Amino acid sequence: PLDKEELGRSAWGLLHTIAAKYPDKPTRSEQRDMSAFFHLFSKFYPCDYCAEDFQRHIQVDPPPTSCYEELSQWLCRAHNKVNVKLGKPEFDCSKVDERWRDGWKD
Ligand code: FAD
Repeated sequence: PLDKEELGRSAWGLLHTIAAKYPDKPTRSEQRDMSAFFHLFSKFYPCDYCAEDFQRHIQVDPPPTSCYEELSQWLCRAHNKVNVKLGKPEFDCSKVDERWRDGWKD
């Protein structure tokens, strides 16, 4: 099985990439589906206490689904919350597109 670190790295990679590809002008049904996706993801994420924390986070601060930018910034903040909890450095959310959408410039 994947250990917690590998699982986390892969999961964040997938989530940030999904957020980066989310439309600028999503339809109502895309918005509903994206919201459902994060709710379901947080229930089935295969690390019990990680999933519980993420579910609590989503209840207090639900994913904004109005456009890719709101969604990717929200996800960046959510990831930073976990970074802080684990004593990892916070990521600069102004660099999220560079990291997950466009590729680093250098
Ligand atoms: P990761 O945190 O996995 O990040 C991968 C890459 O994403 C980084 O190298 C960086 O380039 C980029 N990145 C970092 N921060 C951001 C950001 N804010 N926005 C955008 N990109 C960023 N582990 C636990 O031990 N306890 C937990 O409670 C826990 N909860 C988790 C909850 C969720 C929903 C997920 C997906 C994972 C969770 N994890 C948890 C795993 C943990 O977050 C890390 O994935 C794992 O520790 C590996 O860390 P890493 O240092 O390799 O980088």
